[in-house]
Amino acid sequence: MNPDDHRTLREMLGAFALGHLSAAEETAIRAHVDGCPNCRRDLTEIAPLAHELARVDLDRVFAAPTPSPDLGHRIQVAVARERHHRDRLARRRHVLMAAAAVLAVLFVGGVGLKIGQAVSDTPVATVRIEPVEVRSKLEGAQASAGVVAHTWGVEIKLEATGLRSGSPYAVVVTTRDGRTRSAGAFVGTGENVMHCNLNTDVLRPDAAGFRVLDEDGQAVLTAEL
Ligand SMILES: [Zn+2]
Repeated sequence: MNPDDHRTLREMLGAFALGHLSAAEETAIRAHVDGCPNCRRDLTEIAPLAHELARVDLDRVFAAPTPSPDLGHRIQVAVARERHHRDRLARRRHVLMAAAAVLAVLFVGGVGLKIGQAVSDTPVATVRIEPVEVRSKLEGAQASAGVVAHTWGVEIKLEATGLRSGSPYAVVVTTRDGRTRSAGAFVGTGENVMHCNLNTDVLRPDAAGFRVLDEDGQAVLTAEL
């Protein structure tokens, strides 16, 4: 592979960790990461940051007349944490890529934000979170979840440990009439606790459950709603 192609792939790792790539791009990244220890290591280090960024509550951002008060702060915290990594320069590029992917989503929503924006005192809207029991089919894996019934669909707030570090997982929601809808994807963080918000276009009354699938499509976590 020529160096330019490789650089392009490496720069997509942040978007990959956030689940923002097309299926074809994800396949290409997975195939490459399988055979490239450097990218695999990068992905392992990016994943926790990506989850931190993914926790930003887009619903609250879009609903509020002003951008989410703690978004700038959260990104700053995530970036500051990442800066402590030894290989500072190389890491920073990936941090910025991951942050850029999240900000791109926000800009699409018509909300302009800048990293470093002052944290305001705007009160945070309260969100009703319905606790959900999650069953693990993977030894060593544990998870809990809550769901939020939004007007646009169900949001799943997933917390898990013991999912294979660096491995991609997909989340699907099943509907009462037997359909399966994608709710997004994430990368396992091993023993580190992972917090992940997953959004779906299935409305709460139609949602029957969700499953977390590994690379082979096997359900490792399941829940009934
Ligand atoms: Zn590589």
